[in-house]
Amino acid sequence: MRIAVASGKGGTGKTTIATGLALALEDRPVLFLDCDVEAPNAHLILRPELIWRQQVDRPVPVVNQTRCTGCGHCAEICRYHAIAVMSGKVLVFPELCHGCGSCVANCPEAALSEYGRPLGVLEAGSTKTGITFARGVLEIGELSASPIIRQLKKWAVRTELFPHALSPEAVEIRDAPPGTSCPVVETLRGADFALLVSEPTPFGLHDLRLIVELVHEMNLPAGVIINRDMANDGALERFCVEANLPVLMRIPLERDIGQALAAGQPLTAVRPAYGMALRNLFEHIQLLEARGIRT
Ligand code: SF4
Ligand code: SF4
Repeated sequence: MRIAVASGKGGTGKTTIATGLALALEDRPVLFLDCDVEAPNAHLILRPELIWRQQVDRPVPVVNQTRCTGCGHCAEICRYHAIAVMSGKVLVFPELCHGCGSCVANCPEAALSEYGRPLGVLEAGSTKTGITFARGVLEIGELSASPIIRQLKKWAVRTELFPHALSPEAVEIRDAPPGTSCPVVETLRGADFALLVSEPTPFGLHDLRLIVELVHEMNLPAGVIINRDMANDGALERFCVEANLPVLMRIPLERDIGQALAAGQPLTAVRPAYGMALRNLFEHIQLLEARGIRT
């Protein structure tokens, strides 16, 4: 079972829920993936010992000027405007390059080859309670987070890192980046269930609508956790009913919970009762996933 914990915006408590769920399920084999590669922070709560490390490179074209005729075909073919030809000279913009290889494959003079540009690192280890933890860390200044998330998902399920990868009891929890852009799509891709964390504010509702559209397009079953629940006009609940989106859990707005979480304490330590609530939530998710209920 692969659960992606996502929200349309940052600051909704997504990492609090994802780490809380991992800790609540620690009687099972749990793999936790921090897919927020631009600002990974789940390690501050789970405190893993990271013992595995792997550099991730992206192939970027480099031109052999003696072979290049300046025909401009490479610039025409690049969908990402990462290569330009000016006055017969080829210019490559590595930050924009997605490493697709189209220009290299289609250069009529075989004037392009590739080198590995560092994209970031993958790190993995385990927590004291036995959760296997892995994260990606994007190189500062890199714009493209999706390739490193893709690599992280493949790398972490190798049996050296996660020996229970093939066990039917295994649970993979992915902490998604905020928003609804390509890195979130990459995090959701291949998941069995999207657990959406929102809050009952106009911004929360606006961003929940966006992420629900995305999971709908991806045909993923989903449910909602309302965090910082408080007396409000009920707009969020009405939207969930209209979107056929089950509200699986509510966490009230309480100052001491917020303070403890801000200090890096897991939800299950701040309020032990949430351990049972999160285990019940997991059972509910299993039922929804088995029934194939979509929004
Ligand atoms: S396609 Fe090849 S030959 Fe043409 S401009 Fe690009 S690198 Fe030079
Ligand atoms: S590898 Fe792909 S993205 Fe990069 S410059 Fe070539 S065509 Fe553009």
